[in-house]
Amino acid sequence: MARNTASVCRMCRREGMKLFLKGERCFTDKCAIERRNYPPGQHGQGRHKFSEYSIQLREKQKVKRIYGVLERQFRRYFQIAERGKGVTGETLLVLLERRLDNTVYRMGFANSRSEARQLVRHGHFAVNGRKVTIPSFLVKQGDKVEVREKSRKVVRIVESLELSQRRGVPDWLEMDREAFTGTVKAFPERADLTMPINETLIVELYSK
Ligand code: SF4
Repeated sequence: MARNTASVCRMCRREGMKLFLKGERCFTDKCAIERRNYPPGQHGQGRHKFSEYSIQLREKQKVKRIYGVLERQFRRYFQIAERGKGVTGETLLVLLERRLDNTVYRMGFANSRSEARQLVRHGHFAVNGRKVTIPSFLVKQGDKVEVREKSRKVVRIVESLELSQRRGVPDWLEMDREAFTGTVKAFPERADLTMPINETLIVELYSK
């Protein structure tokens, strides 16, 4: 399966902001953005002029990196969003939020989306009582996501639940930590996304 193998901290430095790709490390002073907040590479600290295109491109790359989605899949989400009734940029972000790996991360069962993706692939989660191993599975209102009985002692999940309490849970989700279960109360809304994202730039880029 294709995946992005670039150093994750380099991705944050390229985008000039914390993308929170490494779990707990992102909250410590070991974070590369805290230490070297300039783009990686030989010319990272030089002066740069940004064209309209490069600004749009960077915004798209940033969102892809946050959600760990590759170009082909990202474009597919965009096409679905474009065909939908709502505002394209917002629908795109809502689709990304509804991915099962993101939902597992948001619920606090994992410390990062990449960890959530791996845990889902390894079969640790069930949706409405059925095992789901597809990270791109889209949750919907009323879905119940739970850690499967046999996985409730997995150290990474138990520790993540503990550590994630400070992150909190967005309004569209409801957690029962004792029962290792979360419920999708509603579809996520644009306001639930706290990362600074300008989705209009992505729409402009793909509309060229
Ligand atoms: Fe990004 Fe986290 Fe690395 Fe900091 S530690 S640069 S937030 S991935």
